[in-house]
Amino acid sequence: MFLFWAETDKYAKQRRVKLAMGPWVIVALATLTLLGGCGGSRSQRATGPAFATGPACVRLLAERGIAVQPWQGGTRACPIDTPVRAPRGSVAAFAPPLETSCSMLLAWSGFEAQLDRTARAILGSPVVAVRHYGSFGCRNMTDGSSRPSLHAQARAIDVAGFVLANGRTVTVLAGWYGRPDERRFLRAVAVAACQKFSVVLTPNSDRYHRDHIHVDIGPWRKCGV
Ligand SMILES: [Zn+2]
Repeated sequence: MFLFWAETDKYAKQRRVKLAMGPWVIVALATLTLLGGCGGSRSQRATGPAFATGPACVRLLAERGIAVQPWQGGTRACPIDTPVRAPRGSVAAFAPPLETSCSMLLAWSGFEAQLDRTARAILGSPVVAVRHYGSFGCRNMTDGSSRPSLHAQARAIDVAGFVLANGRTVTVLAGWYGRPDERRFLRAVAVAACQKFSVVLTPNSDRYHRDHIHVDIGPWRKCGV
């Protein structure tokens, strides 16, 4: 299925802010690339989301209360733009600490409040930790194609589950087809993620995603809920 990128107000605002903030390069992906998510079919885009990189990105994270540690991430074959290591986002901790690109962490931090509201509304408790399978992986997509995954640039996160303040843990593996409230929560999270990220892949997408929700900030657009 082919969908064109629908620029949200959020991204439009971010772009305006960044243009006003100075000389940082906003990645303007004006031509179609061969980058995609870690699985699923490609979707087409007109313009992808733009995020700050470098010191500007780290400053924006600091303004959101997110402290990052130095991380020598990436490889020669798979370099990362502004690699960072973060024990926690603006709302919840990462389990384990997240090693990713600054842009991806910035995008995630913009999603956390909504994630937290969804958990409180459906499960009655805030999120205190996000379990994940990582962001960086120098590899091609899992659909067997030769296209590099967004994980090769650490512009994706594979979310495995959530730990709530009341001690409950909800995993994608057990919850996606599990208890009714967990099913509802995980689907609501995925639907909300589709408004914030480029590609969202879930257990509904393919067998590679039976135990996690993939979100990325790449050039393609797909909501695999
Ligand atoms: Zn993934």
